[in-house]
Amino acid sequence: MLSEIRTASLSGIDGDVVRVETDLKRGIPGFNVVGLADATIKEAKERIHSAIINSGYEYPQKKVIVNLSPAGTRKEGSHFDLPIAAGILSAASGTDPKTEDLGFLGELSLDGRVNHIKGALPLAACLCENGIRKIILPAANAREASMVQGAKVYPVGTLSEAVKIMKGNVPLPYSSRETAYERGAPPVDYADVAGQENAKRAMMLCAAGAHGILMTGPPGSGKTMLARRLPTILPPMTYEEKLQVSKIYSIAGLLDEKRPLIEERPFRSPHHNVTVSAMFGGGFRPKPGEFSLAHYGVLFMDEIPQFSIKILDAMRQPLEEEKICVTRRGGTLFFPGKVILVAASNPCKCGYAGDPDHVCTCTGSEIASYMSKLSGPILDRIDIHVTVGRMKYKDIEGEQKGMTSWEMREKVMIARKRQLYRYRGTKIFFNSQLSGKLEKKSCFLGEKEKTFMQKAYESFALSMRTYKRMIKLARTIADMEESADITVDHLAEALQYRGMDQLYRREK
Ligand SMILES: [Zn+2]
Repeated sequence: MLSEIRTASLSGIDGDVVRVETDLKRGIPGFNVVGLADATIKEAKERIHSAIINSGYEYPQKKVIVNLSPAGTRKEGSHFDLPIAAGILSAASGTDPKTEDLGFLGELSLDGRVNHIKGALPLAACLCENGIRKIILPAANAREASMVQGAKVYPVGTLSEAVKIMKGNVPLPYSSRETAYERGAPPVDYADVAGQENAKRAMMLCAAGAHGILMTGPPGSGKTMLARRLPTILPPMTYEEKLQVSKIYSIAGLLDEKRPLIEERPFRSPHHNVTVSAMFGGGFRPKPGEFSLAHYGVLFMDEIPQFSIKILDAMRQPLEEEKICVTRRGGTLFFPGKVILVAASNPCKCGYAGDPDHVCTCTGSEIASYMSKLSGPILDRIDIHVTVGRMKYKDIEGEQKGMTSWEMREKVMIARKRQLYRYRGTKIFFNSQLSGKLEKKSCFLGEKEKTFMQKAYESFALSMRTYKRMIKLARTIADMEESADITVDHLAEALQYRGMDQLYRREK
């Protein structure tokens, strides 16, 4: 007697369909799992055995062979319990359930209950993409899995509920419309940030062209407030983006009934003591790190000079490639990580270097060593450097209202639309991603502009990389001003956002 049940397995955020083939043979009773199963699946034997008996079924007194197919792919996770148990019961009862379009996911308790699993959303998405649209899974995961368009989700609390469905007693699928789920706190707004119009403009450019930004300023100048509001001026996420981001959160175990889908652009703010694996992902059963959790959103690194050299060095590759490669036994996998990097720093250890109203107590060499960790390579990858001063009294008590997030987003959208149109048919979305021929064509400079850039290049001893980044930033400024050409004014503004290069060079 042979049975076949469908489930799925993950690698990164993508999955493969796995067929669970169960055969019952005469001979000494035993339980064998073949097909490259990891340690958890082997541990599952005990759980499956107890769950079957405690659910009131008879456990077959035969040699049980379970083959997870295709054999070559790695299979991880505890969600194989339910499909394997279903396979055994299906083979034992000798009934051939019509399970071609039915998929199973779930971990079992010894008493037969079906428990919450990690990664239900990407697993369900994988099944659904492969035509397996009816999915039996833990009730606690129903909400997130139901976010997959086209999926029919059947939540179960126990093994026997799953068996009933398998035998043809199919209930109505779960409907996510039945209950409204809670939305997060009302979003913040740039209108809350008094003054700082210069920094707010830099934030708009950052959002418009997906340029990284570094804010330098004394404590209490509002750097964190400025960073936290960046997602409010980014365009709303598309369904595909929401699904991608939610897959990452599902694998990290961060989705639940109250938040089954990530609908707002992420904002992640890891502490400077963060470990390499918490930042970039990894572990025995690889989990996405902060970098991936910020996918399609904002990664905020407050007090960036305090992060370890290891972390800062490891930032370069994912920033360029927009994904993270996790190596482990048996191969490599990728987690996506397309982020806008927002970094903030005090200007020195005491925080008051360059502040006209405070005395900086640091020595020259202390100031130099404070910023030196950021040095060329990471600063080179951040297009916008902006100084954020202490708020002025008139800004705190004044009547004048600053730009709101809504007004800022309008301008961002203008620039984004121009970029989408200009780069249609290419894999480029933003000016910050430009390179090669397309960069040359899109960032054309006239004679006057070339003369200006030559002067800047020579008098500020810009690096080649910085020079190119400046022009791309000027392209974003021009887009935001709805100008087809890059003008000297745009270049001059872009140059003003490279202040850190000179500061760093002087101190060296
Ligand atoms: Zn100082």
